[in-house]
Amino acid sequence: MLYNLWNKGTIDRLLSEAGFSFKKSLGQNFLTNPDVCPAMAAAAADSDTGVIEIGPGIGVLTAELAQIAKKVVAIELDERLRPILEKTLADFDNTSVIFADVLKTDLKKIIAEQFSDCKKVAVCANLPYYITSPIIMALLESRLPIDNITVMVQKEAAERLSAEIPSRAVGAVTLAAAFYAEREFLFDVPRHCFTPSPNVDSAVIQFKIKPDVGLKVKDEKLLFRLIRGAFEHRRKTLVNSVSAAGVVSKDQILTALETLGISPTVRAEQLTLEQFGALADEVLK
Ligand code: SAM
Repeated sequence: MLYNLWNKGTIDRLLSEAGFSFKKSLGQNFLTNPDVCPAMAAAAADSDTGVIEIGPGIGVLTAELAQIAKKVVAIELDERLRPILEKTLADFDNTSVIFADVLKTDLKKIIAEQFSDCKKVAVCANLPYYITSPIIMALLESRLPIDNITVMVQKEAAERLSAEIPSRAVGAVTLAAAFYAEREFLFDVPRHCFTPSPNVDSAVIQFKIKPDVGLKVKDEKLLFRLIRGAFEHRRKTLVNSVSAAGVVSKDQILTALETLGISPTVRAEQLTLEQFGALADEVLK
């Protein structure tokens, strides 16, 4: 039996039959809008795609993905959702659920074991807000063999992650994401599209993973330390922020900026990713 899993009445009935109550600490806000999940699924997957979903809840996005993708593996932390998901996903034989913490799950292994017959792999999720950044950064940094990450996050995070570089909206996470992926803000999802309704709006963002990291630097770890240090004190100049963060000395960074012809009073948000790369390489000389 197929359920309208976005329907508030259906959600309430399924949850009350299972004696389920929402845990705010797990970021449990379930979608109640019929249009969001089909749009996310269509952006993330096609019939050749194996999809990893994070946090299926009662399976509203999972069911859409199951109808579009070749295979879906959903990872859910909350065991209390098991009896509900067994009901709601019963009709989809290309879909399975693993009950585990996504941050402790070996996604490389899942991809190798479950998606060997899929031409591409995607991650698609309405992410639990309390761990949005750790999940996105772990996905990007682990260099999984994936085509895209299509996720719903808080609107503010989506704007930061997809910000044009350079611009005032840029943060360290923007540059880190741009290092690994092409970023695109897809659409807004207002707060009234969920039960319970969160006190912030959301948005869907897509990362298309660069097959080969575009920017080549001598020491990637130094690049990321430099980026984090540069944005640690947003009101300071890059020189003062980086040196206060203890990444490199004031003299080193000033000399590097001078060699590259960049103003000594530049702020982190005014540099491109390529300029940060050149700066990291110059500091090493
Ligand atoms: N996909 C559903 C929807 O769109 O209605 C639910 C999304 S809800 C925002 C986030 C889901 O992530 C919840 O089901 C929650 O239990 C689950 N979750 C929270 N922390 C998790 C973790 N560390 N690993 C896996 N799932 C997690």
